[in-house]
Amino acid sequence: MKDMFLLRFGDLVLKGKNKPTFINQVRRILKEKLKGLNVEYEFQHDRIIIHTEKDERDKVIKSLNYVSGLHSYSMIYRTTNQIDEIAKLAKEVILSESKKPGSMKIETKRADKRFPMTSLEISQAVSKIILPELQGFTVDVKNPEYKLEIEVRHDGAYIFMSKVPLLGGFPIGLNGKGLVMLSGGIDSPVAAYLMMKQGVEVELFHFESTPLTPLESVQKVIDISKKLAHFMPKNTIKLHLVPFIHIHETILSKVSDPYIITIMRRMMYRLAERYALSHNILALVNGESVGQVASQTLDSIRVVENVTNIPILRPVITDDKNRIIDISKKIDTFDISIRPFSDCCAVYVPKNPITHPKLEKCLEEEQKFDFEPLLKEALEGIETLYIKPDTELIIADFGFEVKDAIENYKNSQK
Ligand code: ATP
Ligand code: MG
Repeated sequence: MKDMFLLRFGDLVLKGKNKPTFINQVRRILKEKLKGLNVEYEFQHDRIIIHTEKDERDKVIKSLNYVSGLHSYSMIYRTTNQIDEIAKLAKEVILSESKKPGSMKIETKRADKRFPMTSLEISQAVSKIILPELQGFTVDVKNPEYKLEIEVRHDGAYIFMSKVPLLGGFPIGLNGKGLVMLSGGIDSPVAAYLMMKQGVEVELFHFESTPLTPLESVQKVIDISKKLAHFMPKNTIKLHLVPFIHIHETILSKVSDPYIITIMRRMMYRLAERYALSHNILALVNGESVGQVASQTLDSIRVVENVTNIPILRPVITDDKNRIIDISKKIDTFDISIRPFSDCCAVYVPKNPITHPKLEKCLEEEQKFDFEPLLKEALEGIETLYIKPDTELIIADFGFEVKDAIENYKNSQK
C-alpha cells in the first residue's frame, strides 16, 4: 500500500477573494518541490492529498518543509463510510502509530451531513467496537495520550492520528520581491527565510572585501545561499557579490575610528537601495536585531537608514538570539554561519564603535572622501550567481581573487 499524506493550507484559507490564486500557487510550488519523486495528487478544494511510495517517505517529508503556504500534514488512511470498516482501519492505525498502549480519544468530524449518525455517535460506535480488541488502551476524553481523528466525507472516511506543522505563511511568488543584505552571520539567512515563508521572493546581496577578508567568508555566503535556494521557485536563488574592497579600504584610512562601522553601513544601504530600485525590487531586508551590537541601537539604525528612501524590513528585529539560532538550525544554515571567518563588518573592528552616532558627524566624515565614484564602481562590478542546492562552487580552488573564481565557475557552467 502507498503512503497517503493530507496537506492543509494555513493563512490562505482566510483570504476570500485571493484564495484560488493562492491555492494554485501552492499546488504549483508543491509539484515543483516534489519533482522527481513518485507522487500522485488529489487536489480537493480546501486541501491536498498526495499518494507516495513508502520508501520515499523521508524525502517527501523533507520536501514538504520547503513549501510555504502549507500549514500541516498528516499521514492519513482512507476507507469506506461503513462503521465496521472505519473501526477496522481505526484499530490498525492506532496499533501502527502508537508506541505503547495508553489513553486515547476518538474525535469525529462529519463533512457529509447526510451520514445517518452524528459525529459523537460515530466516535462512540467505533470506540465500542475497537476498545475490547486493544489491550491496555483506555478512553480519556480530557487528556488523552493519543488522539485519533475520523473525518467522514462524501468520498469516504479518513483517519489520522498526528498533525505535523509545516512552514505556514504564504506561497512564495505572490508577495513581491525583497533584496536581502546577506552577511555570513546567523541572523541575515534567518531574515531571508522568514521573508520567503511569508511569500516574498528574495535576491541576496553580499558585500565582499577579499582579500582584506578571507575567501572563506565568500564561501560561507555561497553555502548559505544553497540552503536558502530550497525555498525559492525553481530551487534557484540569485546571489549578488558586490566588490566592497575599495570602499572598505577608503573608509578604514579616512574615517575616524568610532564612525567606521556607521559609515560602512551607510555605504551598504546606499548600494543596496540603488540596486533594488533599478531592478524592480520593492524593499530591502536585513538581519538587524535591536541592541545586538553597537551598530544596532535605534540611533545607529536611524542615521544609517537616513541615506535611503525604500522600505527596510527587519524580520528578526525583536527576536532574541536563541530563537534566531533555533530557526537557523531548522533551515540548516547554523553550522555554516558559525564557521570562523569574518566578513567586512567584523575585520578591523574599531576599538570604540559609537553606539549613538550623530547625523551631522556622519555627513562630516563623508566629506573626507569622494564616495560617489566608489559606489558606481562597486555597482558596476557586481557578479551575479544563480545558486541551486546542488551548486558546486568551491571558491578557494581558484586562487585568491573572487573574480577569478567566479569567472572559472561561469565558464564551467557554459
Ligand atoms: P548577521 O548574523 O546577519 O551577520 P550580525 O548580528 O552579525 O548579523 P551585523 O554584522 O551588524 O550583525 O549586520 C547587521 C546586518 O547587516 C546583517 O544581518 C546583514 O543583513 C547586513 N550585513 C552585514 N554585513 C554584511 C555584508 N558583508 N554583506 C551584506 N549584508 C551585510
Ligand atoms: Mg554579521
